Amino acid sequence: MFQANSDYLKLPGSYLFSTIAKKTAAYQKEHPDAKLIRMGIGDVTQPLPPAVIKALHKAVDEMGAAETFRGYAPDLGYEFLRHAIAKNDYRARGCDIADDEVFVSDGAKSDSGNIQEIFERDNIIAVCDPVYPVYVDSNVMAGRTGTYDEAATRWSNVVYMPCTEENGFAPDFPDRVPDVIYICSPNNPTGEALKKTQLQSWVDYANKNHAVIIFDSAYEAYISEDDVPHSVYECDGARTCAIEIKSFSKNAGFTGLRLGATIVPKDLKDHNGQALYPLWARRHGTKYNGAPYIVQRAGEAVYSDEGRKEVRAMVGRYMDNAAFIKSSLKEMGYTVYGGVNSPYIWLKTPDAMTSWEFFDYLLDRANVIGTPGSGFGPSGEHFFRLTSFGTKEASAQAMERIRSL
Ligand code: PLP
Repeated sequence: MFQANSDYLKLPGSYLFSTIAKKTAAYQKEHPDAKLIRMGIGDVTQPLPPAVIKALHKAVDEMGAAETFRGYAPDLGYEFLRHAIAKNDYRARGCDIADDEVFVSDGAKSDSGNIQEIFERDNIIAVCDPVYPVYVDSNVMAGRTGTYDEAATRWSNVVYMPCTEENGFAPDFPDRVPDVIYICSPNNPTGEALKKTQLQSWVDYANKNHAVIIFDSAYEAYISEDDVPHSVYECDGARTCAIEIKSFSKNAGFTGLRLGATIVPKDLKDHNGQALYPLWARRHGTKYNGAPYIVQRAGEAVYSDEGRKEVRAMVGRYMDNAAFIKSSLKEMGYTVYGGVNSPYIWLKTPDAMTSWEFFDYLLDRANVIGTPGSGFGPSGEHFFRLTSFGTKEASAQAMERIRSL
């Protein structure tokens, strides 16, 4: 049985980034002159788009005037933003999503961690392996565990679905039918994305087995291929089996501003026939007091003509970087995935090095920091994640250093 305090420390997600930070700090201390290039974390570097800044200034002024001051925001989000999201991200793509099925939040991390609260404690969850650690950790912290396998460092109620070169990084249906299935596409960390037919088969599987898909679309803005869906609701039948979590972080650069949204269709039920819409509305309204007015106005500006153009240009710069990193590594003989519909490059470590051996090698020899694939799950072993969020100059310098190894 899970012991809340001590077992938190067994969570793989808490281990990965703190180990990277410790190793990097120790290296820098020993080599104070080393100019490290950080290609490990998934944070953006370009400033906020001008349309967003303009909206922020205007909203700040409104907050300072008696007649336009706003207090608590509506806990499910201002109507202007719920409408902008439903109209532009869903109805414009032919997805049948109503304004009031959009729940505004402070980002996809909170929502992807909190959404498990509307499911029963004994539910079985399925995650891709490698995985964005929040999906596993939040369920384990909630006690959705079963028995712990020390050797495999995992709990029995969490089903891992390997995403490997052999299956093209698209998970196969698990042997054990789960109640909740987490799918992130385009994927962090592999950078690969599911095609429409592949996602449709998951929607069909979930409907047939009364499972619920939690679809994380944080990297949707990076999709460049026509057969890759931007939303799970592009698939037939998704309204009865899927929740979608969106973020403003990676498209519009809101990592420091904080804004996201979760879509819960009114038709959606869990395997007991319990409607999930009122549960999420209740949970959100009870534990959350609404994203700030000024930030929601900034989010609305992302959908203006000016905002759209600026966001496209920003994403385009990261994607140019991704294409450059990918082609450079390929020229050097590396096997490389991702980078086409995502800012993440997933490369195979050379000479069968473990992910952590390659981390140490790159840090020591090239002063480049990436993320060891094994930190995201066992199927990430012998892989390494680089991000294209740095500047063009830093990416070019990093490739030069790796080329000269
Ligand atoms: N989901 C995935 C898959 C992510 O990689 C990240 C951040 O890196 C998030 C969610 C968090 O997004 P936000 O900044 O909106 O909390």
